[in-house]
Amino acid sequence: MTLSAVDTRIIQLIMELRRQGIADTRVLAAIERVPREHFVAEQFLKHAYDNIALPITQGQTISQPFVVAYMTEALLVGDRMKVLEIGTGSGYQAAVLAKLSRRVYTIERYKSLLQSAERRFDDLKITNITAIVGDGNKGWPEQAPFDRILVTAAADKRPDLLIRQLSPEGGIMVAPVSVTATDQDIVRYTRHGDDVQEERLMPVRFVPLLPGIAREAAG
Ligand code: SAH
Repeated sequence: MTLSAVDTRIIQLIMELRRQGIADTRVLAAIERVPREHFVAEQFLKHAYDNIALPITQGQTISQPFVVAYMTEALLVGDRMKVLEIGTGSGYQAAVLAKLSRRVYTIERYKSLLQSAERRFDDLKITNITAIVGDGNKGWPEQAPFDRILVTAAADKRPDLLIRQLSPEGGIMVAPVSVTATDQDIVRYTRHGDDVQEERLMPVRFVPLLPGIAREAAG
């Protein structure tokens, strides 16, 4: 049996993620099973399995596979868990989380991005993602509490409103939080009742978490 070119590229990416220190085999298997080529724009197809961030529409980006793997690993997701993602973007990170959990709720401020992401979930027959247009800063109070929350746009300070939507029994949130105007740290927050433990994990650069729902031209 010979491997297709795509299979070879996915295996190379998984090997690179391992070399970069991603050790959780559930996370690596989830990344192996989500075809990133479905989430990138046509003109970047040949780079779909390169370990780089790529532009999507609306000036946003699909995160670098290493950053997706790193944040997903840091989130310690179990297969019975209810997960909230802020910043659906292409939908790639949500699809990876959907392989690891019971259900993923995801919020995006651009309707056009959300609609494209939902089409991809349908095409790939991923049925455990619920996606809405909204302001992720506010979380999703009707569905709270969440076992896990992953924020994929940079917050300028500790996102307390989201922390309040975490399960008080060991709920975990991973989010890029500003250090300077352009640089952030990935921070992991673990909640036990009113106690919130904070760990700074790695420097990163994300697009900013913006206020409100985006206005888009009709059509
Ligand atoms: N998780 C995405 C990467 C997203 S980039 C993926 O896997 O492709 C960050 C996304 O967050 C962008 O799509 C941006 O529009 C969105 N975003 C920024 N501020 C937001 C907010 N307040 N509420 C919801 N989405 C937001």
